[in-house]
Amino acid sequence: MQAPPASPAPTSAPNSSPAPSQSFRTAKRSSQDYIFGKLIGDGCYSTVFLAKDIHIGKEYAIKVCEKHHIIRKKKREYIKREKDALNMLSSVPHGFVKLFCTFQDEERLYFVLSYAKNGELLKHINNVGSFELNVAKFYAAELLLALEKMHAKGIIHRDLKPENILLDENMHLQIADFGTAKIMDPEEIRCAPSSGENDTQNERSRKISFVGTPQYVSPELLHDCVDTRASDLWAFGCIIYQMISGLPPFRAATEFLTFQKILKMDYEFPEGFPADAKDLVEKLLVLDHSKRIGADDKGTTYDSIRNHPFFLGIDWDHVWDQTPPTIC
Ligand code: ATP
Repeated sequence: MQAPPASPAPTSAPNSSPAPSQSFRTAKRSSQDYIFGKLIGDGCYSTVFLAKDIHIGKEYAIKVCEKHHIIRKKKREYIKREKDALNMLSSVPHGFVKLFCTFQDEERLYFVLSYAKNGELLKHINNVGSFELNVAKFYAAELLLALEKMHAKGIIHRDLKPENILLDENMHLQIADFGTAKIMDPEEIRCAPSSGENDTQNERSRKISFVGTPQYVSPELLHDCVDTRASDLWAFGCIIYQMISGLPPFRAATEFLTFQKILKMDYEFPEGFPADAKDLVEKLLVLDHSKRIGADDKGTTYDSIRNHPFFLGIDWDHVWDQTPPTIC
């Protein structure tokens, strides 16, 4: 995607729609309110730039989507979902990138996001090879707390992976990229749908086409295309495995072979993988989504996961107040 110039001139009157919680809620924003700096990320549908607000000097990550690309790829829905999900999460104090406002010009759509200065979790895993157990435990705890908040609002992410988990300036975790998210009724999301022959009409109507990233996609998204929050719990298991071992559990030369491995549950634990972590990952990577640990939990917290021995010692009420352990 083409980078916008350092101070792109809007080609038409900007159409700004600020998020409700922001102080500049009434101000119409345009690309001229920002100085665009380095490119900080690239996705299938967007390019993300570091940008500085010329009025207050604050740095943001601005996600820029080319309209013609979105229209050509039929991804309007993707943009709407991302905006809706981020707006729904704007009141949650921790665990998510914040959407400050959106605006557009003739060619592009802009999402003004909080800047997660320390980048992708993947980069940190790759830098050290794999995390020490206490580090993996801490980030798994932050991820679980974020999943709880997200699921309580009825949002299933469906593309959780270490590239979409960012670290802010204080090294706390923030989930990003809600383009493939599914927004459901918060009550409905807690009733794990069945799959296969027993599907009701209502469940069938929720069936979807494959979304996500091959290595982290759950069997039900591949097989039955059923929407369930347990798909995020599957990805959670893959991410815990990856933080501790350095690589995701299901890896193969092609996307097709990766899918085969997922459907056959063909993965192994490396020697020395800690027993409690292994037990938790085994309880998350379960083919039948309704039998995954947490899938049956009825409240807004995943108590069965919180109480698993892997998380022994985690003070769930104060995770976000802690200084994260040094990554090593
Ligand atoms: P995908 O191809 O995964 O669907 P996308 O086009 O939806 O990607 P994002 O995943 O949202 O784009 O962003 C691409 C990359 O940009 C991220 O992986 C991350 O490295 C970087 N990025 C996105 N948002 C931020 C942010 N708020 N702060 C810092 N970096 C960010």
